[in-house]
Amino acid sequence: MTFLKFRTLAVHAGSEPDPLTGAVNVPIYMTSTYAQESPGVTKGYEYSRTDNPTRQALEKAVAEIEHCKYGTAYSSGMGAITTLLLSLRKGDEIISTSDLYGGTYRIFEKVFSNLGIKVNYINTLEEAGILFNKNTKMVWIETPSNPLLKIYDIQAFADVAHDHDAMLVVDNTFASPYFQNPVKYGADVVLHSTTKYIGGHSDVVGGAICTNNEELHSRIKFLQNAAGAVPSPFDSFLTLRGIKTLPLRMEAHMENSLAIANFLLTCKKVKRVYYPGDSSSPYWDIVKKQMYGYGGIVSFVLNGGIEELNKFLKNLKIFKIAESLGGVESLIEVPSIMTHASIPKEEREKRGIYDTLVRISAGIEDTEDLLEDLSRGFEF
Ligand SMILES: *Cc1c(COP(=O)(O)O)cnc(C)c1O
Repeated sequence: MTFLKFRTLAVHAGSEPDPLTGAVNVPIYMTSTYAQESPGVTKGYEYSRTDNPTRQALEKAVAEIEHCKYGTAYSSGMGAITTLLLSLRKGDEIISTSDLYGGTYRIFEKVFSNLGIKVNYINTLEEAGILFNKNTKMVWIETPSNPLLKIYDIQAFADVAHDHDAMLVVDNTFASPYFQNPVKYGADVVLHSTTKYIGGHSDVVGGAICTNNEELHSRIKFLQNAAGAVPSPFDSFLTLRGIKTLPLRMEAHMENSLAIANFLLTCKKVKRVYYPGDSSSPYWDIVKKQMYGYGGIVSFVLNGGIEELNKFLKNLKIFKIAESLGGVESLIEVPSIMTHASIPKEEREKRGIYDTLVRISAGIEDTEDLLEDLSRGFEF
């Protein structure tokens, strides 16, 4: 259904009316196993870790909105990331951008490094050159990155990765498929924490992997079943339901994030603002090339110390202090203490994640109410 425009696709992707009843939504198939006519003779399902119709509908939908042929769904974004990393062998290497989701960094450094998989970190594509060797199997980027919203040129990374027989993995959680489709620029694998924009209501944790590479998909499908980090039928249903309103929500998230970024730029108590829609940023040309919009996240550095930061946060009424992002409600968090606390302080500051860096996930509430709340926050 890739010829359809996004809003149509989002509503219809992955599902047809139920052949048995005509139900317009995919039923929640709460079953772990399936009766077989005789041993080995099935209707295509044998056990729900391997396949479940509700999960399959979600997998199809995620793939379609990401313009990919194949999709697999997981119990969390980390479940998706772990499953993908299980495709590597001892001795393999990854080149990753250093501005990374804390949990991804943690699993690289605390889990897969013990299994003999080495990750080399870079800040720019130019730094990657000397790090490639015959063991480099993956180049891993998040764009926009978390929490500094750096933008990496997907096409340029794909070209360099392919020159070295490595694949490009793009964690597309922040942009969502509505604002960016990395496969269009040469990415081999697109990852999502569907917990964020795709689910969109802060009520379900999930992950997804999309690809156009059939061989890679078979390997991932095998690993999905072997490792078993699959979502429940109910979680699959919730995520699928979220997809239907993804375009509408993303437009509202962006309207608010844009207004918030503009407000923060004029605010004396703000030292610096990070936002993909900032036309004076060094990333602007790449943003225009590969993104259809700016997303819903804004980060900023507060002018002052921890004390001022706490006063600001205490004054807020609508913004809730919480980890995560991409839900309908506006959230605010302090990466150094919350999402990125697992990165040692020294390493964190080298990456620009200072103690008074704040990340906002703009929800879909009324713009004026949000700006008023932020103004109230700065009254200290
Ligand atoms: C949240 C997040 C993850 C991890 O996903 P979970 O669903 O929390 O396991 C991975 N990458 C990015 C960019 C994220 O924001």
